[in-house]
Amino acid sequence: MSANTIVLPPLPYADNALEPVITARTIGFHYGKHHQGYVDNLGKLVKDTEYAELPLEKIITGTAGVADKAAIFNNAAQVWNHTFYWQSLTPKGGGEPPAALKARIDASFGSVDACKKEIAAAAVAQFGSGWAWLVLDGDKLKVVKSANADNPLKAGLKPLLTVDVWEHAYYLDYQNRRADHVAAVLDKLINWEFALQNLG
Ligand code: MN
Repeated sequence: MSANTIVLPPLPYADNALEPVITARTIGFHYGKHHQGYVDNLGKLVKDTEYAELPLEKIITGTAGVADKAAIFNNAAQVWNHTFYWQSLTPKGGGEPPAALKARIDASFGSVDACKKEIAAAAVAQFGSGWAWLVLDGDKLKVVKSANADNPLKAGLKPLLTVDVWEHAYYLDYQNRRADHVAAVLDKLINWEFALQNLG
């Protein structure tokens, strides 16, 4: 990957495909302005640097916690997080996870409902901007949250799904009602098939 190949990946569905939970207007800003902005910023920041030829994951793990590389880390992680987020959602999502994933969820959380409650609790409890994640930690599924651009990659965890709880993800559609937005995402849009693929 070179700096000029850091590009915005295509959205995996139409901009109105997640309505009514996430409107085309929200997608227009979130994907078209915010995600695109992180891509543009990262391209400028890594141009002619040692990071220009690296895959995104290597940029993230190589700059995590390095004080003078915070801008590169933040933009690289936000590019990765958003690409992962769009794939974590799907029209007609929610419902029952595929059997192989459901078995793993039951083993780690007791039930799918308990897992969803834990994701929702993490999403609502995240103070300010950030993310709620379903991750694989060893052979156990866990829920973690992260602030701002942070993601579980730098802790060596394997992300399976994420929910964006930056205000730009829901404010146009839900204003201050983050909990209602998260509940609707988990019931109607969450892409369990994607989580199963990531489980490997
Ligand atoms: Mn976002």
